[in-house]
Amino acid sequence: MRARPLSVRARLTLWHAGVLTLIVCVFSTGILFFVRASLFEGLDRQLRRALMTIDWVYHQEPEELKDLESESGIALFQITVGGKLRYQTEGWERLGLARALRHVGSMPPGSWTAPDGRHYRVRAVAQPSYTIAAAIEESSRRDRLWTLVVILATGVPFALGLAVAGGYFLAGRVLSPVGAMADKAREITADSLNERLPVGNPKDEFGRLATVFNNMLSRLHDSFDRLRRFTADASHELRTPLTAVRSVGEVALQVPLDSGGYRDVIGSMLEEVDRLTRLVDSLLTLTRADSGATRPVREVVELAVLAGNVAEHLRVLAEEKQQSLSVQSAARVEAVCDPAILRLGLMNLLHNAIKYTPYGGAIHIRATATASGQPSIEVQDTGPGIPAAHQERIFERFYRVDSGRARESGGAGLGLAIARWAVAANGGRIELESEESKGSLFRIVLPSIA
Ligand code: ADP
Repeated sequence: MRARPLSVRARLTLWHAGVLTLIVCVFSTGILFFVRASLFEGLDRQLRRALMTIDWVYHQEPEELKDLESESGIALFQITVGGKLRYQTEGWERLGLARALRHVGSMPPGSWTAPDGRHYRVRAVAQPSYTIAAAIEESSRRDRLWTLVVILATGVPFALGLAVAGGYFLAGRVLSPVGAMADKAREITADSLNERLPVGNPKDEFGRLATVFNNMLSRLHDSFDRLRRFTADASHELRTPLTAVRSVGEVALQVPLDSGGYRDVIGSMLEEVDRLTRLVDSLLTLTRADSGATRPVREVVELAVLAGNVAEHLRVLAEEKQQSLSVQSAARVEAVCDPAILRLGLMNLLHNAIKYTPYGGAIHIRATATASGQPSIEVQDTGPGIPAAHQERIFERFYRVDSGRARESGGAGLGLAIARWAVAANGGRIELESEESKGSLFRIVLPSIA
């Protein structure tokens, strides 16, 4: 069975406890070594002084050696000459050190454990004709060291316990905004995308995270809104021709008609079916554009050729309305783009120009370069123009300046949205210059060839 992964709070506390334990152990060990070294250093200094005193007394007044204990507190020493014991104190004799150190020469300070378990610091100094060895009991220093060990051994785990408990509490407090965010996020569904995560302090890490999530929620909210509107608009647009087909059919069924009458009915039904087909085609194009399924190819396209091609395709519509349609090209203007997608965009612009320009109007298409040298195609007409108030919004889906008028001409308000996508997919933009009743000029501006 796999162990459940630890919570961030527990992991933080464990890490905190681990690092703290390591630091405290290293620090305590350092302290112990330092205190032990300084304690023994003091003892060694005391031992050296005692040896010097013994040496001096032995030289100057050897008979006073026995008074050293009472006068200077030097109770443990011996003097040997050529391996023979010359003098030893009572205490020294009791410890039985004489036997062990009779033949010793100079000896650095070292610890020695007596048979009774006591510890002594022992040192010997050899002179040319004799050797002095002395000892001092270590117990008091060892006791102090031991007390320190006990203090550290009991105090450190206690302090560590406190620190870990404090760490656990603090980790809980620090992480509490995450819990609050998770609780809120759990409540947010597609229907409550207007709700936001709580932002404690917008400047700290969790605050910034919550702000980023909130911004994402805002974007999702907008997208959902757009999608809802799009679905509602699309359903509405689809319902209109369907209702028309239905009512034409119902009316036709109510009275018997001759074959001419039925032909008319079928004709108007087909017109509505045509409108439906165009609408579904446009919706499909936009859905594909949204899903990013369309991958534009990149090739060098001569814009005048593309413009001429589109103009020829739609010329028949212009002729039906007795409009003049001209294609001009200042010089050879080339752009790197996907010709099929750009053609779709230009087709929509020209189709609109023909659609909205009255009988006998004029439409000009120009392949040219902008002042900054970017390749562009302009579609200019002498139509009704677009009022400034609508210019911002006409590229939105299903937006029509005059829905009644546009419906008559078959528009669902998707043409410019498709044109804008087609141009943007090629890295370009559409500019509009228009004034009411003074015609419109749509300019496709493409990126320069590097
Ligand atoms: P539609 O299918 O209704 O033509 P579009 O997205 O192509 O939809 O255009 C949006 C609106 O912009 C149209 O309803 C129309 O009012 C306005 N429009 C577009 N092109 C022109 C133009 N050349 N002249 C005047 N109005 C235009």
